[in-house]
Amino acid sequence: MLDELKLLYNTKLKQEKEKFGNIKDLMDFLNKEKLTPQFEVFTTAGTDPIVNVGGRDVLMFSSNNYLGLATHPRVIEGAKMQLKKHGGGPGGSRFLCGNIDILDDLDKKVAATVGAEDAITFPTGYMANLAIFNTLMDPLLGALPYSKNSGVIFSDEYNHATVVDGCRLSSAKKIVFKHNDMADLESKLKKFSKNKHKMIITEGVFSLDGHLGKLKEIADLSKKYNCIFMVDDAHGIGVVGEKGGGVPQLLKITKDVDIFMGSFDKALGCMGGYLAGKKELIEYLRIASRPYIFSSAVPGVLAGGAIAALDICCDQKGAILRRNLMKNSNYVGTKLKKLGYNVLGDGTVFALPVIIGDEDKAIQFSTRLFEEGIFIPSFRWPAVPKGTARVRVTPMATHQKKHLDYLVDVFYKVGKELSII
Ligand code: PMP
Repeated sequence: MLDELKLLYNTKLKQEKEKFGNIKDLMDFLNKEKLTPQFEVFTTAGTDPIVNVGGRDVLMFSSNNYLGLATHPRVIEGAKMQLKKHGGGPGGSRFLCGNIDILDDLDKKVAATVGAEDAITFPTGYMANLAIFNTLMDPLLGALPYSKNSGVIFSDEYNHATVVDGCRLSSAKKIVFKHNDMADLESKLKKFSKNKHKMIITEGVFSLDGHLGKLKEIADLSKKYNCIFMVDDAHGIGVVGEKGGGVPQLLKITKDVDIFMGSFDKALGCMGGYLAGKKELIEYLRIASRPYIFSSAVPGVLAGGAIAALDICCDQKGAILRRNLMKNSNYVGTKLKKLGYNVLGDGTVFALPVIIGDEDKAIQFSTRLFEEGIFIPSFRWPAVPKGTARVRVTPMATHQKKHLDYLVDVFYKVGKELSII
């Protein structure tokens, strides 16, 4: 009887292994290495300066809601109006019933904000990045004068995972260049100079490193080697540039960028993503990009919110919010550096990556911050290189001075306790 049970048990185990491979072993390993993230539940808007977690109020210093627009009355009103008009979801892609009037307005608004001729929108920024690379590098029905497998994509080594995934969908060769290293990029461009179909992709704001992408220099190299130049400005749109048009606007190189990509989910406080560029290119994407054709359109409620957010960014109110954000960020950055923290960046970026180093210490640090009433999870390998674990402090325009001072006091207390400073 016992032998039979043992046999049954072992067979069951074997079958489970056959079905799910080594998932359990992997999960055990990740737990042991403390690589499994904690998922906290917020019972108030997780984007506000003060949020409620498990019945406790804590200060939020890790939201991408940089300008505080997620709960801005104009954004809520814009979303509400469209929710009433169009309901919860679009019911299909733009090819079907999802092509609602407000989405045309959103396309136009995005194009005007970034300084492009036209734009196309998606329910997430991730989808925008999944849409662009194979549509452009593996052309539909030979619409472009390039054959499959002939393209080359040059991608900054620190580019976001969504860029990496988008590139994977293309048959083009992927060449990774050292982060912001123009000599390395040029040497790689030289190797492929005979190849006619090339593209360079980098980010506007490297928020985990506290600095901008070298867009001016890359624009020059793009011209020299005749490459398509794309910028993922997910963290720059709305918050960088005189009118919130992003990093290309700040650096006055809008005319040199071929493809602008961004997300409505960060400074714009909503959700969705876009690709913008020349009219002809965007029209091609409308009929050829698979995520646009085969997935539902941006719901009206999100479009209404995003348009209101873009309106705010482009007017006086946006300029005031951007000033407040930079004031808050500079205040915290200066104080943390004075305490002895290694704060990355050159002061141009509002997000403040603070290096803790050791992975375990970074976890301990975040846990202690949380106990003291501050929410900032840590970034560890594989998100960042081993031994450079960090927390990214994201002050928002809506934080008050007392919130910032409390953060600095807690960083002093916990930093001393864990011998970080
Ligand atoms: N690009 C970058 C640089 C990002 O940081 C993100 C989101 N973290 C995305 C793209 C994807 O945007 P979304 O969250 O709208 O999918």
